[in-house]
Amino acid sequence: MCLRKRKNAIKNGYEWRWHSKVEENQHDVCNNLKKGVRGSEKYILYLWKTSGDFLQSQWDKVFELLGSDVDTIAIWGTFTYTCLLYWIVASFYTFIDVTGKPKFAVKHRIQEISSYPVPFSSVLKLGRQVLINQFLSIPFYMVGYHLMVLRGYDTKKSLPSFQRAFFELLFCVLVEEIGFYYSHRVLHFPFFYKHIHKIHHEWKSPIALAAAYCHPIEHYFSNLIPAYLGPFLLGSHIFTCWIWYSIITFSTLINHSGFHFPFFPPPERHDFHHLKFNQSFGALGFLDYLHGTDVEFKKSESYRRNCWSFSLVPVKDLYPSDPKNN
Ligand SMILES: [Zn+2]
Ligand SMILES: [Zn+2]
Repeated sequence: MCLRKRKNAIKNGYEWRWHSKVEENQHDVCNNLKKGVRGSEKYILYLWKTSGDFLQSQWDKVFELLGSDVDTIAIWGTFTYTCLLYWIVASFYTFIDVTGKPKFAVKHRIQEISSYPVPFSSVLKLGRQVLINQFLSIPFYMVGYHLMVLRGYDTKKSLPSFQRAFFELLFCVLVEEIGFYYSHRVLHFPFFYKHIHKIHHEWKSPIALAAAYCHPIEHYFSNLIPAYLGPFLLGSHIFTCWIWYSIITFSTLINHSGFHFPFFPPPERHDFHHLKFNQSFGALGFLDYLHGTDVEFKKSESYRRNCWSFSLVPVKDLYPSDPKNN
């Protein structure tokens, strides 16, 4: 608007009306947004309260079932829960590994291997070592619990708040990654590799059950301790520990499964580690980036496929091999 026209508009009160109209609209938009935010806030809080009540009632049942004895819940409850979860989830994958069925599931296998379906004798060998490791972890749960008592931890019967549990889990992810990455690198020192870690690397194309197939020292050093450190440092509630151990169990089984199913986290990073030995030591990748231990991985086809897939088409078909590499 030119200066003369603007002066006339002010004189006639148009501009004032125009401005006030815009301000009115903006005001309405802000009010509606505030109402919307307040509405969704109430909805989220309602959902959290409802699911929180549900979780609390389930936790109360666990307490009653184990005789309301905190020692029993912390040691035997945690041991039984983590072992059962491992075997229940692993058995789904193992069924596919042994039978090679259903066919549509096998299409999602990352590496093509000639010895697939896996011979039952190999699965028995894996299962036996996993059971030994789980049995040997009982003293760890006992000592770990008593150290938690000495350190002091959240012993309330009521569950922790959502915010607290969420941030504690984030912290545990970070601590686990640091602990796992560096302990894993130590296990690749020639002496430790030859005497300890070599067992875990018998599987170049791993299957889910192989997740805890390792030397007992490795099981303590690289699996149990890094997972335990986060809850120990924070003095977490047993319920938070159980959620955390569930996350760890699911992720390690998926990472070793050799399957990249749609809607599941991508397992290519650790699968590539089993294939190449000297790449991708971590689970998340930021320490590999920092130490340059993912250079080969980043050049590989596995890296392109290492993404969340929401398609029923296998990732190796979505990202086919470069013919130059064949
Ligand atoms: Zn592994
Ligand atoms: Zn390794």
